[in-house]
Amino acid sequence: MKELPEHLQQHLERGRALAAAGGYRGRFAPSPTGVLHLGNLQTALLSWLAARQAGGAWLLRIDDLDTPRNRAGAIEEIQSDLRWLGLEWDGPVLLQSERRGIYYSWLSWLRRSGWLFACRCSRRQLAGQPNYPGFCRTAGHHWGWQQQRLPSWRLRVADDDPHGSGDVVVRRADGFIAYQLATVIDELSFGITDVVRGADLREALPAQRSVFAALGESPPQFRHGPLLCDASGQKLSKREASSGLEPLRAAGLDAAAVIGRLASGLQLLDPGARLSATELLEHLTQQEIDAVIS
Ligand code: GLU
Repeated sequence: MKELPEHLQQHLERGRALAAAGGYRGRFAPSPTGVLHLGNLQTALLSWLAARQAGGAWLLRIDDLDTPRNRAGAIEEIQSDLRWLGLEWDGPVLLQSERRGIYYSWLSWLRRSGWLFACRCSRRQLAGQPNYPGFCRTAGHHWGWQQQRLPSWRLRVADDDPHGSGDVVVRRADGFIAYQLATVIDELSFGITDVVRGADLREALPAQRSVFAALGESPPQFRHGPLLCDASGQKLSKREASSGLEPLRAAGLDAAAVIGRLASGLQLLDPGARLSATELLEHLTQQEIDAVIS
């Protein structure tokens, strides 16, 4: 394997120093594809509670690399919704779109080190395959356009790899850096020690573990909170689940009522409570918070 260039070595060392110095460092990483819906807000609250209960830092990262999916104004709305709820983050907002340089440096190192192969499989060829079946692993495709398409770049993951992720796409065929690579680099850059996020992302974890392994680093502790359910424990309809704070505010709920509602959705409180995020934090023990995260 190629030796890491000096600046990537330093990059890792800065992240390690942050992780070593700060105790718990958590983060919330929404994609600015629209308003934070109630499920996102529930996850934000849980992630904030876990970090603050541990006396740790909580960072706000915006996953805005997939620019066609970004919605104008969403980044500002995310911040104002979190502030309205009293979920303050530490330091500046971290925009992935401002970090493309570091992602491409790592991509280039991975490629030069032989970790990557160019994949020209179509979506149709891969339909129904849980893991990448390895078609292009030995094909020797090159970088450039072929039949008017760029390849995607996949990380080679051994078939007997304990993470069982299959070969992970790290740069997509549309030219965008893949979430799986960017998120791992960011956890390392910002010295994240503990991630609490929604259970829908549990399935992304094996791929992320494979990327951490390729970069030679150990992952933070990843834990997942419950998805949003209604009072009887049923999954919400798409419409209910995709609405944000606006309908609640329009119905006259203030931040204390919404925090109460999110906390009861997490089974942390009985329905009907009204309290600020800080009061909720003071009210809960670490065991109570940990009990809803797995
Ligand atoms: N931006 C990703 C999403 O909103 C989440 C990333 C993460 O928490 O790892 O689904």
